[in-house]
Formats: sequence, structure tokens, C-alpha cells
Amino acid sequence: MRAAAVDESGVLALACDLIRIPSPNPPWDERAVAEHLAQWLRDTGIDADVLGVEAPNAPHANVFARVRGTGQRAPFVFCGHLDTVPPGEGTWTRGPYEAVVHDGRLHGLGAADMKGGVAAMAVAARRLAREAGLGQPLQGDLLLAFTSGEETRSRGARALARAGLLDGAAGIVIGEPTGNRVGIAEKGGIWVDVAVTGRTAHGSLPHLGANAVAALAELLVCLEAAVASTSDGMSTGQAELRDAVVRSADALLGSPTLTATGFDGGVAANVVPDRATAVLDIRLLPGQEGAAVLSGVRAVASEVAARRGVQIEVTSPGERVPLAIPSDHPLANACAAAVERATGHVPVRMGLTGATDATELVPHLGLPFVICGPGHMAQAHQPDEWVSTRALEQAAEVYYHLARAMLG
Ligand SMILES: [Zn+2]
Repeated sequence: MRAAAVDESGVLALACDLIRIPSPNPPWDERAVAEHLAQWLRDTGIDADVLGVEAPNAPHANVFARVRGTGQRAPFVFCGHLDTVPPGEGTWTRGPYEAVVHDGRLHGLGAADMKGGVAAMAVAARRLAREAGLGQPLQGDLLLAFTSGEETRSRGARALARAGLLDGAAGIVIGEPTGNRVGIAEKGGIWVDVAVTGRTAHGSLPHLGANAVAALAELLVCLEAAVASTSDGMSTGQAELRDAVVRSADALLGSPTLTATGFDGGVAANVVPDRATAVLDIRLLPGQEGAAVLSGVRAVASEVAARRGVQIEVTSPGERVPLAIPSDHPLANACAAAVERATGHVPVRMGLTGATDATELVPHLGLPFVICGPGHMAQAHQPDEWVSTRALEQAAEVYYHLARAMLG
């Protein structure tokens, strides 16, 4: 009885269409999939535009659409991203863009993250638009924000927010895969680039140089020790970094992390290297400040630089704000009720270790968020990604009931 109200083949067919139009990022080009989705929405009578992120015809393209309400309530937003990660070097059993349904699973790149969720949102919007045509309009506008470039720091979401298109909205649901559970928190983080400049020398006369590779290796060991250890004997810089990063584990999100994810350096086998770079991925909990962490990394770096006679530059190309809402927030409760209605199960509240478009939208717009979508992150970003077709249908039901709860 639960699935009967949604056009089941509709959500699956649209999800297949979206998967079959590649939008891997890099190279970051959602134009074709955005055009298809916008036309699908227009065919159902919903106003929809394709908006280039930097310029009207840019290949980086958002879709913005609106199901008009009567204006008695503030708008509510459905948000999902149109890009996927690249298919990767791993072997896919079926082609990543084939969109094959087998044994109750839809396989393909983006099935879970998150063309399935986008399709479910679009199908729910179509149902609401149809009901409006039959004299049951929503009391507020339903805004559809299908974004470009989520996998590259949510640049499409940032453009949509800055264009003012979502201003005045009273809440947002992000359709990232949560297994149709209710996501109420996500880790944020800060990326850090480290560049060490030393002095070259002949490999046989290392005392004449300042070894950038060795200095960087020492720095990474010191950074790890600062966040991993509670022992005495830490330097002042390490203690500062530890204070900025280390927290007791959050029930939903776990602990903050600091991970070296890149390392490059060296000139030739017989040359003391004067240049080495590294990248750090640092994940933080709500309430933590990227700036304090950056300052701590710099404090450790300057100690290593002094010991080693090198210069170390520490910069950040970007930050994602950690977010959380109270577990009894009305939006969390409304989402949980919608999930229970769609699935028959009371969903748990959960947190996401990765950031979503919410990190750009929520601080800018100052609205509550919830993350809820079909599929699981464990299936994302790897070969043979899939989503259960039942979860897709249930997600379309969840979004429908959530919109009715928020918009009347
Ligand atoms: Zn995603």
C-alpha cells in the first residue's frame, strides 16, 4: 500500500536516465544531465532552469526548480547533487553508465551517491505538482536545488545560495545516501597544504644542504603524534594543535581526525632535495574551528622548520563547516515521521563523517537541515555502486510526506 501512491516505474526510469548521462567530476560537467532533468521537470509542469555556475553556458550546471505553493508558509528545499566521482581504476562488473536493474538493485555510477536520491526527489515533486493541479496545493513553495560540483567542495551549491534563490526557506533536506535514516549531523573539515623549502646539495655532502623531504617527514610524524598521543613530552606547538583538534568522540560522528593524504618531493637520487609538499585532510566536529587547527599546524611546522633549517609554508585551500541540529528538532522529527510512514520502521538518527552541500547552504541561509536518502555511503565512491529499487521508491515516499509536513 505504501508504494502504490508513487509511480514506481517513474522513479526507477528517471534514476536510470540520470545514470546513463555521465557526469563524473573531474572533469566536472553536469550540463547534459542537468538539461535532461530540467526538461523532465518541465514536462511535468514544473518551472525548471539550468543555471551555469560561473556563466550561463558553463558546463558546470545547477538545476533550480519550483513547485509553487499558496505563499502561506516559507519555502522548503529538496537538494541533491548531479555530479558523481569518476568511475575509478577498479573493475566494474557492469559498465558504470549502463544502469542495469538486477535482483532488486539498480547498478551504476551515482545509483546511491546520488542520482537515485535526485530521481526520488523529482518524482515526489511531480506528485506534489499533480496534486496542486487537482486542488491540493502546498502552502509554501517547494524549491528543488540540484547542484553541480558537490564532489569538488560544493561549488554549485555555493553559487545557488549566493544567487539568493533559496533565501527565506525554512528548511532543507539533502538526499545523500543514509539508508533512508535521518541524518542530523555531519563532520566538517579543513584541507591543509604544506610546502617545505630547503637547500639543495650534493647527495654525498648532505650536511651542506637543508633536506626538505626529511623535514616534511619529521613534521608529519610530529603532527600525528600530537593528535594521537596523550603522553607528556609534547612541544608547545604540538600541545596547541592537540588542544585545537582532539575531542572526546561524538555519539553520532566519532572523533576528529588528521590524516596526511599527499606527499611529494625530491629532485634526483643524488641531490639533497630543496622542495617537498604534503596535503592534510582534517575532519572536525561541530563547534571546532578550522582557523585554530591551522594555527596549531603552523606552530608545529615552525618548530620543525627551526630544527631543520628550512622554511615551511602552511596554507588552506578550503574549509567545510561542521553541522548539527538537535535530535528532537521539529525537522528531524518530521523527517523521522515521513520515513516511518514510507517504510514502516522508526528510523535512527545518524551522523555523516563526510561533508555534504549542507556545509555551504546551511551557514549561508541559516536554516535547519536534515540528510536523508536511499542507498548507503559504503556503496559510494567504488566500483559496482548500487541502490535497492525498494529504497528508491521508499525515498520518493519519504520526500513526499516530508514536503507535506513542512509545506502543508
Ligand atoms: Zn554525494
